[in-house]
Amino acid sequence: MGIASLLDYFLPSNCEFCGRHDFFSSKTGICRRCHRKENSSQKNFDVLCKICKEPKDEEECLYCSSRNVFFEELRFLRSRSPFLAKVINRIKFKSAYLLSVYLCLGMKRELSSWKEIPFSGILLLPSTKSKWYRRQNDRPFGSCDFALKRIQKILPCSLVEPIEKISQEKQAGKNFADRFIHARLAFRIKERYKEKLHGNYLLLDDVFTTGASANEISRILLENGAVSVRVLTLIRTEGKQEGFKKDIADV
Ligand SMILES: [Zn+2]
Ligand SMILES: [Zn+2]
Repeated sequence: MGIASLLDYFLPSNCEFCGRHDFFSSKTGICRRCHRKENSSQKNFDVLCKICKEPKDEEECLYCSSRNVFFEELRFLRSRSPFLAKVINRIKFKSAYLLSVYLCLGMKRELSSWKEIPFSGILLLPSTKSKWYRRQNDRPFGSCDFALKRIQKILPCSLVEPIEKISQEKQAGKNFADRFIHARLAFRIKERYKEKLHGNYLLLDDVFTTGASANEISRILLENGAVSVRVLTLIRTEGKQEGFKKDIADV
């Protein structure tokens, strides 16, 4: 009996949601039955924009044509769902570490088209922002720690931190347009990285909401010498176009 199966024996990992135990739950904290149930409710869109992966019904993507998009491409593993919100809350409040393995399922497949790209570095989105699942004063969400390790096994590149957050203001409570304006003032390049970047960068974020921060960081990277920026997010929220349409209507 190997050490891993020994640990399994003493610490059987039951499904965080229904309590069942199977091989899948021992690896990810969620049993196969719950995973299937969740996955069948994920929508499959026929036509996604090649850059931002927003569903589009017209020729032109409203999201991308409505602003300057600075990243090359966004890739995401899953769409936001109430189930995934629960998964994230359990990682945070119950330290259900195995579930962060669950959040990274499918990563290898999703990254396969980027395998040929030599990356100069990988960045985590500088935090302190609020998100749809996060209440105020929560401790930081650690799902990206595991995701980062996974990515580095698939695409060899080191973690770099050329950008710092200068505004402590939160994105929460701001409408869609305000988030873009705020993001513009929220980050800056660190002095020693000014105009010193080179090559391709990968930006990792747990959840892509409006994309305002990811886009602004991409802009700063390009401005300082990066050739391209790609964004990988574990969970993507749907309906940015809806929010955008609403914002236009509000003006
Ligand atoms: Zn289950
Ligand atoms: Zn688009």
